[in-house]
Amino acid sequence: MAEETRVVMQDIDVPGMASLDVFVKRGGYLALKKALKMTPDEVIAEVKKSGLRGKGGAGFSAGQKWSFIPKTPGPKYLCVNADESEPGTFKDQMILEFVPHRMIEGAVIAGYAFGATHIFIYIRGEFWKEINIVQKAVDEAYAAGYLGKGVCGSDYSVECTVHPGAGAYICGEETSLLESLEGRRGEPKMKPPFPAIRGLYDRPTIINNVETLATVPAIIERGADWHLSLGTKESPGIKMFSVSGHVNKPGVYEIAYGTNQLDFIETLCGGVSGGKLKAIIPGGSSVPVMPAANCDCPLSYEGLHAAGSMLGSAGMIVMNEHTCMVKMLEVISRFYAHESCGKCTVCREGTHWMTMILRRILRGEGKMEDLDTLKEAADGIEMKSFCPLGDAAAWPVQSFLKHFRHEFVDYIEGRKKMLPKYKPVGTIGHEKLPARAY
Ligand code: SF4
Repeated sequence: MAEETRVVMQDIDVPGMASLDVFVKRGGYLALKKALKMTPDEVIAEVKKSGLRGKGGAGFSAGQKWSFIPKTPGPKYLCVNADESEPGTFKDQMILEFVPHRMIEGAVIAGYAFGATHIFIYIRGEFWKEINIVQKAVDEAYAAGYLGKGVCGSDYSVECTVHPGAGAYICGEETSLLESLEGRRGEPKMKPPFPAIRGLYDRPTIINNVETLATVPAIIERGADWHLSLGTKESPGIKMFSVSGHVNKPGVYEIAYGTNQLDFIETLCGGVSGGKLKAIIPGGSSVPVMPAANCDCPLSYEGLHAAGSMLGSAGMIVMNEHTCMVKMLEVISRFYAHESCGKCTVCREGTHWMTMILRRILRGEGKMEDLDTLKEAADGIEMKSFCPLGDAAAWPVQSFLKHFRHEFVDYIEGRKKMLPKYKPVGTIGHEKLPARAY
């Protein structure tokens, strides 16, 4: 039976956990004090040994990333990526709102490990409530000596700035985030050089996700072996999943990697609501959709990969048997068309074309060739665009067509019609395809 293993969320229900007083009473900042008694290299070695993987989507080893920072003198930066905005993903928001000090503690430990002189917390602009909560937590941490000159009486000093983003999905990508922090338009940049060598203001920079950093204090406190004892060999530790859609108990859950997906939905999320399970998107809207027949698999990097999808940002969207997959895909595609930064042609044009074709099918004006055109457009974007947003837009289209093609055909052959109450909302530029598309 699936069960929660709360680590980052362990005290999330305690009233007032966002305040320094309550956080410290519950053992907060003890891990930082312990880390400051270790050498920076020992901290990196412990985190490396723990197998902690970045929890923003890419899953790269956190300790290894820190070790890329050169040991040269001068400013070095840590950017906390709190720009969470993948549809279906809302776990970092929980940390920012209810346990911001856990993230700050993890950030200071990381900063100490690789010598950061300044921490920037880049928070999605729409999260005005969380921005205020985190700013208050940062002020408290400064006043108590956990930030600023001589952290906890040690030789290590670090400044911290909370920086609201301007609300662009692409700014969750590392190089776009740095561009935005420097005051420019948030567009991805060519790598190499990687940010660890030339990042913010051309200085060595690490970008870590909120949940990744919030897990670090527990690793320092309990040791790498404890972390390795949870999860699987390739995906050690625990993971927060945000669950939405057709489940009886949507919300955020923290479980060990490797927990069975169907067991998780049944036991912790209260089961599928409104009918039988039809499909799951396990890792935020960008990863391939899984039909119910493939969903009996472990929730780990390797388990989901073997089952034909990805862990992504762990934003699980559950769909029951009454879900219209054509409408679902139109909503997802519209998001990526809206968020494409426009830098490269395949993504800028392709995402709009895919959305417009889907709308045409929904209107009952689709043709069978449209399905080939959709597939061609998605294949033309995948692995041929400048940044991961292109793949994120292509994978849903490819996987929905692969597993639910018959539903698209039903619209095209007139067996299914768009309900009058369903009107695609929002504009993506042109509402009608130009004649040459027909
Ligand atoms: S893939 Fe899309 S979002 Fe990424 S750089 Fe190209 S146009 Fe911009």
